[in-house]
Order: sequence, then structure tokens, then C-alpha cells
Amino acid sequence: MNERLNILDIWVDRVTMDQALQRVSGYVEKGDRLHTVFATNPEKNFTVPADEFLYQMFRKADLLIPDGIGMVLAARILHDVHMERVPGCELMQKACAMSADKGYKLFLYGAKEEVNKKAVEVLKERYPGIQIVGRSNGYVPKEKMDELIAEINASGAQILFLALGSPNQEKWIAEHGAKLKSVRVCQGTGGTLDVIAGAVKRAPEIYCRLGLEWLFRLIEDPSRIKRQKVLPVFAGLVAIEKIKMILRKSRHSNKKTGNGV
Ligand code: UDP
Repeated sequence: MNERLNILDIWVDRVTMDQALQRVSGYVEKGDRLHTVFATNPEKNFTVPADEFLYQMFRKADLLIPDGIGMVLAARILHDVHMERVPGCELMQKACAMSADKGYKLFLYGAKEEVNKKAVEVLKERYPGIQIVGRSNGYVPKEKMDELIAEINASGAQILFLALGSPNQEKWIAEHGAKLKSVRVCQGTGGTLDVIAGAVKRAPEIYCRLGLEWLFRLIEDPSRIKRQKVLPVFAGLVAIEKIKMILRKSRHSNKKTGNGV
């Protein structure tokens, strides 16, 4: 079942972590084409519609996971749908564990050179048998991009983790996705390699459980305020949308019962 919910100007898919993982495995096993997996969060409600290219990329994505608590709460308020969070960071690591088990070939593209290298080492140690068939830091100059794409194709990678941050990674796949030959799943993973390599701390469990991961990231890196200042705006827009929905519903029922003027 693919239930895509509209949240203000973007979307989110109603999936659990297990279902998201099954989808990834299904895409690899089907082996017919490239599938894109992106994380959705309140911030993207502002960045995605502002760029037509990015907007189309999101609209056509195969899987839009509810990465942050903002989308989970918005889905509850606007659609009365109870979802769990599917953090992209966790999905990637679970996909790595699954790939070690099933023999899927992985390529890691993104983050600084030392971070990318360290993340590969950590994943190899953590998931014995994992096939990381290639890696590249995320600072490849434009003129070397064809070389990188040739390297990804020659590696036979089936899953590509794109860790360039958003919207760089979504734009990269929009521009280069059609040139990828063996890749069946491309997941945008943002800063996940930094977390795996230990360069950035993941929020402690208590923050995650309370839906306050964003607060932890803000405390750790106050410069994120520039990006996170849209959060209260998002909350306000969700509240306005909810009020509009209630008004529409009451007008509709008034019409039906003949109470309307
Ligand atoms: N990055 C990259 N190439 C670039 C710009 C950024 O590889 O040209 C990497 C950066 O090193 C970091 C990640 O992209 O590892 C961005 O992390 P951030 O937490 O900002 O991403 P988010 O998860 O918020 O999208």
C-alpha cells in the first residue's frame, strides 16, 4: 500500500521503518530502474516548492519518509493519521545491515574525505560481510562528475547513499540519476555519514523519544537556527490549515442539513 499524505506544500508517505526497509529491498530485487528515497521534514516545505526542479523531483520520488517529528505531528493534525518517525539516519543503517545479509552492493557518496573514509570503516566493522563497492567524498568538482558516475557504474552498486545534504543531494540525483546504470535505490542521507563516523553526535535516546532531536542538533550547532527558524512558521501554517479544514467541513455539513444561508 502506498499512502502519500499531503502536508501543506509537500508530501510524506505513510510507512513504518519495517515497511520502508521492505520497499528498499523490493526496489533492489525488482531491479528494473532507479528509485529515489528522500526524507521529508518541515524545512523542506519551504525549500522544495521554491525550486521547480526540486519540486518535480520530490513529487516523483518513490519513497518520502517521515524523517522528523514535525511531519508526524502534522499528519496527525491534518489527516488524523498516527505515524511513527522513520529517521533517514536509521533507515540507512538498517539498509546497511540488510544489505550485508542479502549481498546488495553499496556506494557511499558524500561528506568530507576523512568522514566518508571513516564511515566506510565503521560500517565494515559493524556489519561483517557488507559489500561497499565504492566511495567518494562529497566535494567532487563539476568537471570530475563524469568520472565519478563512471566509477559508480563500474562498481555495480545497487544502492547509492547520497550524503550531500539537502537540497544538494536531491538536485544531484535530478541532474545525474538517468546516467546511473546499476543503481536501483538512491537514498538522500544528509549528515548521516558524519554521525556514523562519529564526527557529529546523534541525539541521545531521550531526545529522540520526546521528538526533540531538532533541539539537540540546535544545542550542538547553534548555527542551525538559520534553518530551524522555519519550524514555528510551519507549526502556524499547519494550525491555519486545520482551522480551514474545520470551517470547510462545517460549511459542508450545514449545506447538507440545510442550515446554510
Ligand atoms: N556536503 C557534501 N558536499 C557539499 C556540501 C555538503 O558532501 O557540497 C556534506 C557535508 O559534509 C555533510 C552533509 O553534506 O556531511 C550535510 O549535512 P547536514 O546535516 O547539513 O544535512 P541535512 O541532514 O541537514 O540535510
